[in-house]
Amino acid sequence: MSYEEWIPYGRHSISEEDINAVIETLKSDWLTTGPKVIEFENRIAEFCMASQAVVFCNATAALHTACQALEVGSGDIVWTSPNTFVASANCAVYCGARIDFVDVDQDTYNMSIESLEEKLLRAKKENCLPKVVIPVHFSGQSCDMRAIYKLSQEYGFGIIEDASHAIGAQYYGKPVGSCEYSDITIFSFHPVKVMTTGEGGAALTNNPAIAEHLKLLRSHGITRNTAQMLNEPEGPWYTEQIELGMNYRITDLQCALGISQLKRLDFFIEKRQLLAKNYNELLKNLPIKLPIVDTNCFSSFHLYPIQIICENKEKKRLELFNYLHQNKIGVQVHYRPVHLHPYYRQRFGFKVGDFPKAEHYYQGALSLPLYADLTEEQQHYIFEKLRESLL
Ligand SMILES: *Cc1c(COP(=O)(O)O)cnc(C)c1O
Repeated sequence: MSYEEWIPYGRHSISEEDINAVIETLKSDWLTTGPKVIEFENRIAEFCMASQAVVFCNATAALHTACQALEVGSGDIVWTSPNTFVASANCAVYCGARIDFVDVDQDTYNMSIESLEEKLLRAKKENCLPKVVIPVHFSGQSCDMRAIYKLSQEYGFGIIEDASHAIGAQYYGKPVGSCEYSDITIFSFHPVKVMTTGEGGAALTNNPAIAEHLKLLRSHGITRNTAQMLNEPEGPWYTEQIELGMNYRITDLQCALGISQLKRLDFFIEKRQLLAKNYNELLKNLPIKLPIVDTNCFSSFHLYPIQIICENKEKKRLELFNYLHQNKIGVQVHYRPVHLHPYYRQRFGFKVGDFPKAEHYYQGALSLPLYADLTEEQQHYIFEKLRESLL
C-alpha cells in the first residue's frame, strides 16, 4: 500500500459551512472588530464555562498581553515548561522578565509538580520567587492544575495556562479554559491546532478587571470609557491612550470561521480521541512508549507523541523520521527544549543538562500524524511503515 499524498502531522478541517460563514461576513458591514468578535468571545466563554473570553490575532499576542495584564515587568521572574513552543517563554521576555523553567514529568511531559515544589522551596530561600508561572498543557492533556494552584496560594504567584493544545480538553470533568485554577487561560487557533481561525488566539478569565485590561492592551491602550480617562472628554470623538498597548486585534472574518469551527469542536475531539485509541491498539507491540493520559484528564489530543525506547534513541529517531518522510508521512518533533535555543543560552546562560527530563524526552520524541480528517486506512499505513523501520 502506498499513498500519493503527503500525510502531515497536523491539518485543519474546513467544511462548506465554515466557508459560507466567512463569505457571509465578507458581504457584511464589518470586516474587522464587529459583531463576530463579540459572538465568538461569548461562545468560547460559554463552551469553557469561564465568565469572559478576549480574542486575539494569535496565541502569542494573547500570551504577551496576559503577562502584561498580570503586571509582569522588568526584573520579574516567570517560569514555564521547557517542553513547549518558544512562545510560552518569549511572552515573558517581551515584558523584560527573566525566564526560568521547571522540568517535566516523565510520563505526561507536562510541568512536574515535584520539580515545581522543589524549585519554589529553593527560590524562597534565595528570594527569587516567580511572579507568574505558565504551565503548558502538552499535547492536549491538562497539567495538574489543582496542585499548581495550591502552590500558587502558598508562594503567591499568578498562573497563565498555555492551553494552545488543549481547547476541548477536560480536567476533573470541567473544560480546560474554565480558569478554576488560574488567572488566565490561552488557546491557539493556528491551523495545526485543534480548531482554527487561520491565525488566532483567545484569553479566558473569570476576573472582570483582567478582561477589561486585556481588551485595552489589545488595541493600543486606547480607551473610550470616560470612567478610565484622566481628563474631561473634549467632545464625542474623544479617546485617551492611557497605557502602551499593541494592535493585537483579530478580524470578524476570522471570528466567523471560529464560530463555525467551534460548532464542530465536539466532533473534532471525538475524532481525535478515536484516532488516538486506534494508534494505542495498533502500536502496542512496537518498542515505543505511547502517550499516557492521567485518569483525571480528558485530552484534546492535539498531538500523539511517541517516545522511542532503545539504546541510541537519537540515532534511531533520526532514521525513523527520515524513513517516514521518505514514505510521505510528515511526522514532527515536539519539542526541542526552549532553554537549548541559542537565544536562551546566550541571553540567560542556560546549558545542556539544566532540565534533564525534558532533554531526555526530546531525544526520543516523535509526533505521529493526528487530525480530524486522518483516516483509519492512513493509520494502518503509518503503522506498517513504523513497523518496517522499528522491527
Ligand atoms: C502554537 C503554540 C503557541 C503559539 O500559538 P500562535 O497562535 O501560533 O501564536 C504557543 N504555545 C504553544 C504551546 C503552542 O503550541
